[in-house]
Amino acid sequence: MKVEFWGVRGAIATPGKEYLRYGGNTCCTAITGAQGELVVIDAGTGFCPLGDALMHSPFGRGQGEMVLLISHTHWDHLLGLPFPGIIHQPGNRFIICGPDSARGSLETICNGLLSPTYSPVYSLANMGGEQIFHAITNDPFCVGGLTIRAWPLRYDDATSIGVYRIEEGTQSLVYITDINYTSPKLMDEAAAFAHQATLLVHSAPYMRNELIQRYGFCHVEDALYVAVQAHVSSLLLFQHAPTRTDDQVDALVAHYRALLSSQQATLHLDAAREGLVIEL
Ligand SMILES: [Zn+2]
Repeated sequence: MKVEFWGVRGAIATPGKEYLRYGGNTCCTAITGAQGELVVIDAGTGFCPLGDALMHSPFGRGQGEMVLLISHTHWDHLLGLPFPGIIHQPGNRFIICGPDSARGSLETICNGLLSPTYSPVYSLANMGGEQIFHAITNDPFCVGGLTIRAWPLRYDDATSIGVYRIEEGTQSLVYITDINYTSPKLMDEAAAFAHQATLLVHSAPYMRNELIQRYGFCHVEDALYVAVQAHVSSLLLFQHAPTRTDDQVDALVAHYRALLSSQQATLHLDAAREGLVIEL
């Protein structure tokens, strides 16, 4: 499978020359299977340039289909949804999967995002592409040759988080964002879900020594702990803090690579950046 990063920033999009190398768009990752199956995880603002690129594919003729996995409905995972032309092109099909929450189904929440209060689109019904919503469960499902496993995890009373594992043959990608690890047990459950994945993409906006208000963020140390416990081959730090400049991301990766090296760990560590393409 091919993994392409279209948005790797957390919280809010960050234009500016200090952010050009890692990129300023919020969460969007595209996975293409060997048979051309397209699975996209999250529709932050990175969904807009992805959509623009897909206009040069069957999506531009109203013949495209994608499975869109939404981890949760915070803005940095959803705000790009109503903007690209592909979503308005009649004939395109979007199978949108994610966790329902105590505040309503995924479809209800997406519809609310488009309400006249927030958007000139007004409702999902005004988007020309067909949308089919599915609430995720623990049951795996297939998209062509890709097997998708979801883990709907309650974040708090209002928000559920979906974490995803996509497998093709012996290769696997695990995607974990925004889990508020309130106990070591939860981290061990995440590690079990990610067990021996080829690539773990894990949000890591802040380090533990950064004194910021906690809104359910993961820490860099959490991502490393889960990756090491799970014996994954590679870890990509994801969902960089909006204040984290390119040079600071470089320094952060260098710091933790040195730490891993001093512990003789074999884990390959890097930071996700917009435009990065990985073949698994
Ligand atoms: Zn979030």
